Amino acid sequence: MRALISYLRHFLELVYPNQCHACNGNLVQGEELLCTSCLYELPRTNFHKTPEINAVAELFYGITTVKYATAFYIFEKGSKFRHLIHNLKYKNAPQIGFVMGKYFGSELQDSVFKDIDLIVPVPLHPKKLKTRGYNQSERIGAGLSESTTIPQDTQTLVRKIFTETQTKKNLEERRKNVESVFDISNPLRFRGKHILLIDDVVTTGSTLVACADEILKIEGTTVSIACLAIAKH
Ligand SMILES: [Zn+2]
Repeated sequence: MRALISYLRHFLELVYPNQCHACNGNLVQGEELLCTSCLYELPRTNFHKTPEINAVAELFYGITTVKYATAFYIFEKGSKFRHLIHNLKYKNAPQIGFVMGKYFGSELQDSVFKDIDLIVPVPLHPKKLKTRGYNQSERIGAGLSESTTIPQDTQTLVRKIFTETQTKKNLEERRKNVESVFDISNPLRFRGKHILLIDDVVTTGSTLVACADEILKIEGTTVSIACLAIAKH
């Protein structure tokens, strides 16, 4: 029965896509993904207003060099916004990444983040990309790129090793698990650039540290970080 309900819900979402992903209310023209009232209620962090001192930036203090860091909103388990991330990652809904990225980008436009040279999503291993069909961070980056006009690069930072899921690991294990997982295919493309790394939800930041460390080996690079959400502990 549960499977049937889930199937029907999924089917209805495909037939009637114009429902708010938070309250299920109908969307009117001009609204995308979230109705105006839910978009207003989204628990924003506003970290872009204090880009060097906030809960995302703190994850990297003393570990790697990050210039600015932010997350669009707070991801909380019981919240009405929880489906956004879940559907983006596991329910074949890449448009969530793109639209949320656009909303996020429009808020970053008047901040220090507007001076960044390149948007670079945390890459997926080709095997994972094949099974999921898209890279959710790349979709967020595409939305950000659309509203900020900063170009996105998906070719240069690559994931060379397939890693298991990080969720069951502690911080130490997570760091070890992602060490030397990433590589740079063409360092010249990043040389002298200020790069904005994109991830979906940040928890410990260990994947982002591994990416940043790899990028910072290239001469003249600066790394900043923007995540769609920060997980509330
Ligand atoms: Zn709504």
